[in-house]
Amino acid sequence: MRISELTEVGRVTATIDTQLRQLLEALPVGAYACDPEGLITSFNQKAVELWGRTPRLNDPTDRWCGSFKLYSADDGTPLRHEECWMALAIRTGVPQNAQEIVIERPTGERITALAHANPIRDAEGRLVGAVNVLVDISDRRRAEETQSKLGAIVESSDDAIIGKTLDGRIVSWNAGAERIFGYTAEEAVGRPITLIIPPERLDEEAGILAKLCAGERVEHYETVRLTKDGRRLDISLTSSPIRNAAGRVIGASKVARDITEKKRDEAERLRLVDELKDADRAKNDFLATLAHELRNPLAPLRNSVEMLQRSGQPTGPIRLALGVMDRQLTHMTRLIDDLLDVSRITQNKLELRKERMELADVLRAAVEASRPLLTERGHDFGVDLPPEPIVLDGDLTRLAQVVANLLNNASKYTESGGRIRLGARRDGRDAVITVRDSGIGIPLDAQGRIFEMFTQVDRSLERSEGGLGIGLHLARQLVAMHGGTLSVHSEGAGRGSEFSVRIPLPAAAATRPRPERDPAQALPHTSLRILVVDDNRDAADSLALLLGLPGNEVHVAYDGLRAIEMADEVRPDVILLDIGLPRLNGYATAERIRQQPWGKPIILVALTGWGQEEARQRSQESGFDAHLVKPVDPAALMQQLSQLPRAEG
Ligand code: ADP
Repeated sequence: MRISELTEVGRVTATIDTQLRQLLEALPVGAYACDPEGLITSFNQKAVELWGRTPRLNDPTDRWCGSFKLYSADDGTPLRHEECWMALAIRTGVPQNAQEIVIERPTGERITALAHANPIRDAEGRLVGAVNVLVDISDRRRAEETQSKLGAIVESSDDAIIGKTLDGRIVSWNAGAERIFGYTAEEAVGRPITLIIPPERLDEEAGILAKLCAGERVEHYETVRLTKDGRRLDISLTSSPIRNAAGRVIGASKVARDITEKKRDEAERLRLVDELKDADRAKNDFLATLAHELRNPLAPLRNSVEMLQRSGQPTGPIRLALGVMDRQLTHMTRLIDDLLDVSRITQNKLELRKERMELADVLRAAVEASRPLLTERGHDFGVDLPPEPIVLDGDLTRLAQVVANLLNNASKYTESGGRIRLGARRDGRDAVITVRDSGIGIPLDAQGRIFEMFTQVDRSLERSEGGLGIGLHLARQLVAMHGGTLSVHSEGAGRGSEFSVRIPLPAAAATRPRPERDPAQALPHTSLRILVVDDNRDAADSLALLLGLPGNEVHVAYDGLRAIEMADEVRPDVILLDIGLPRLNGYATAERIRQQPWGKPIILVALTGWGQEEARQRSQESGFDAHLVKPVDPAALMQQLSQLPRAEG
């Protein structure tokens, strides 16, 4: 070969070399070459980036590979450089393609690469070295790892997680779905989602799909789905759109949670609440009936005692016994009345008769009612009233009942000779009544409880002062019905107690004192013709006896029809008519009497155990002039009879 030819060959070789070099640099992967000894003869910039370092060319300290450290991609064990794929390809002369390896950079960062190490042979087939192409697949590996983690989560979920296409074909079905719906993944994948939708719910799917196509989620939608064995399950469904890389919705994922148990628990809870409500209602009804039934026998008893007390001058043990009976009857009446009132309040049947009045009247009435107990125990009792009158709107009887209750308690729970103070004052826009005692006090932890029904601090018999534990409950309710509050303050056991009633004053508290009443007015002497009608013979007879004492002419009937006959016979001035009567009830009896020409001027008084407004209304409509609630206080009754306009004539 001539020199010029040689020069030409050299030039061509150099050109190819440059082109190869450029090609190598342009590759998006790392590439390097080694000689048969493993010395690195060339590498591109991508390989340097991959290794995170620049190896020395043709240097025995950098053999087989330019990486800092190497690890097996299978189990992460460290590899020596002579164990790498390049070394294997050179040693065996066999290409090593698509083999994974983990490379550690000097910074400690690890990357996963695919090695393609291929031996190079000369024309005679002798091995002259090898090239290795390294492709960084770290991102792909990471994505695969994430996916397999997610896959594991999906698989281990208790919820059913289902993927479906937009035309409703199931594409994935996890173990939760298998468990909940009974189909295996093989059975479900590829089939329409309607597989688990009951026929009557098929319409839902269109609505859900429309939302998903609009890119919206459907969350915690409670519905019913069908299992393989035909059971209907209550489930809560959350559905989200699945988008492709371009962001277009291409399917949906559904997470379904079996809420059958939750629903069952909920239903059970509601059932229990209903049961409790029923039990509470039954208890209230029972208490109302009990109080009502207990109260009926009290009327004849009270009448009889009163009659015995008035007939002649009882002396010695009889007078004593009558006193005992009188006091015990009063006590029992008070207990039963409290019980009745509580029942009425719980049944929303207690109505206040509000009027404008002076606070002092309330206190006076309360003290009057509690005087016997206060006197009996010999307490040091005093009242502190403000000099100016305090006027308020309220039900005088009910407010007096509240204060009397507090005074009775103060007296019950304060040792004989202890100190009890009743006070009243104006505090801003409120009237405040306080009952303070030096008694046994109330432990702090019990102070919240004592206003609850049937609560007593100390139930032990030796400490019991009698009572049902409803007084404070009732008092608080009555005060609340006036828009006010009842609270307690006690430093603790043995340190006395103070109860405060706070009632808002009317906006413009005009001072308009009521005319003075004289409770001690003497019983009037009347001479009326009275017909008493009651099917409780004891009640009728005893009331008749009592009414006969001051000079009245009294007749008795035990049923409605007989009452009409007798009224026609004796033409009474007044008929005291019970409502619950055999043969003809009180209302009908009153109506018939009113229809008679002789019946018009008669004063008709209804006597019933029921004091509600409806009953009053009803008796008014039936032609009654007055409506009295049993047990009637005979003195008050006679007082009223003497004041009736038509009775005067
Ligand atoms: P009762 O007096 O019938 O038991 P109450 O509802 O009136 O029912 O009172 C509830 C409980 O509050 C009483 O049993 C008693 O333990 C406590 N209590 C009420 N008033 C006082 C008071 N002034 N001093 C100490 N304890 C009281």
